[in-house]
Amino acid sequence: RVSPIADELGRRFAKAGFELHLVGGSVRDALLGRLGDDLDFTTDARPDDTLRVLKGWAETTWETGREFGTIGAQRRGLRLEITTFRAEAYDGVTRNPVVQYGESLQEDLRRRDFTVNAMAVSLPDHRFTDPYGGLDDLAARRLRTPGTPRESFGDDPLRMLRAARFAAQLRFTLDPDVRAAMAAMAADLERITAERIRDEFTKLLLGADPVTGLRLLVDTGLAEHFLPELPGLKLAIDEHAQHKDVYEHTLTVVSNAVRLEGDEGPDFVLRMAALMHDVGKPATKAVGTDNRVSFHHHEVVGARLTKLRMKELRYPKDVTSEVVKLVALHLRFYGYGRGEWTDSAVRRYVTDAGELLSRLHKLTRSDCTTRNRRKAAQLSADYDALEDRIAQLQADEDLARVRPDLDGNAIMELLGV
Ligand code: ATP
Ligand code: MG
Repeated sequence: RVSPIADELGRRFAKAGFELHLVGGSVRDALLGRLGDDLDFTTDARPDDTLRVLKGWAETTWETGREFGTIGAQRRGLRLEITTFRAEAYDGVTRNPVVQYGESLQEDLRRRDFTVNAMAVSLPDHRFTDPYGGLDDLAARRLRTPGTPRESFGDDPLRMLRAARFAAQLRFTLDPDVRAAMAAMAADLERITAERIRDEFTKLLLGADPVTGLRLLVDTGLAEHFLPELPGLKLAIDEHAQHKDVYEHTLTVVSNAVRLEGDEGPDFVLRMAALMHDVGKPATKAVGTDNRVSFHHHEVVGARLTKLRMKELRYPKDVTSEVVKLVALHLRFYGYGRGEWTDSAVRRYVTDAGELLSRLHKLTRSDCTTRNRRKAAQLSADYDALEDRIAQLQADEDLARVRPDLDGNAIMELLGV
């Protein structure tokens, strides 16, 4: 079923003498039964013509993607992006994609990343176009490229990251050739701008199964080129969880965090903090383990590395500082004597966490990955006790705050004495 809004738009384009096709992620998601409120279209109309067709129909339009041939529009809560047919074209020097209009739907589909993203539904007649067997791959939940993966990834190395992203987001598996090309060509990712990497990586981390995506990044060597701290954890042994390295521990913490998120949906700050929480650990080995000096070292180094890495990936400052804060605070529970907190230490914990307190609770609980059942139960009980003390202190403080701040004169006045 295609949205009536899309059909309506298709009729408008046809009347103006243009083609309109639903494409890419929209067709894929519609077939998977997860179509959202964003619809992607392709057309032979140029952006000016598209704007003319939209006039009087769309509630708003935007032209931020115009240099890529994309016009955005909104109607009845749907966000529509309409892109003029593209041809495969690359800048000969930087090999960054350059915009060149294509002549046909077939040509447009040929330059797309995966077969499951290279299907189209024409409007308003609902003709289905699937030149590369995308429907079969969708049924098999498999990622294949329309041409050879090596050629495709050579044209745009970001597609390697997109493959890992779709594995995490849709739980698709990679065709062996796709995976092999990723491993062979990982270094080509260096040609891609930080912003494009950031956007795909964010979607990967927010996916239904981020751990699968993260493993792919590390196993193919892609992570080495934009997030070297993650494979770097492989060398460090975690003394808290015997026989486990910090890398495996970290992936477990990420999946624990996903489980603790609750109904509010995927939480980037929490997941990113889980991913980065121990990046300070390898460097900390040199100052010994499990004493105040090493905990402090770990905290400072971890926060610093997280901040630099997220800055490098061009994450906004406010998001970065939230993640950094969680990374810095996650050790406090383990580091400074559980259960022996003074009231002012508890208060400081609450004040330092601020708005992040409930995420800090989730992160700290996620960090407990010991296989020793008794130890895990003890840690969990200790954290319950800390949360209880926080609740008690907050209740006391709230009580103090409602006590009115009146002096004797005001009271006499109020009572008419
Ligand atoms: P979502 O919107 O859920 O992130 P999507 O598949 O729609 O997923 P977009 O980034 O919105 O992803 O891209 C829309 C479509 O454009 C894709 O389905 C694909 O056909 C094509 N596409 C996007 N990026 C590339 C790329 N780097 N190389 C080739 N084709 C691409
Ligand atoms: Mg999309």
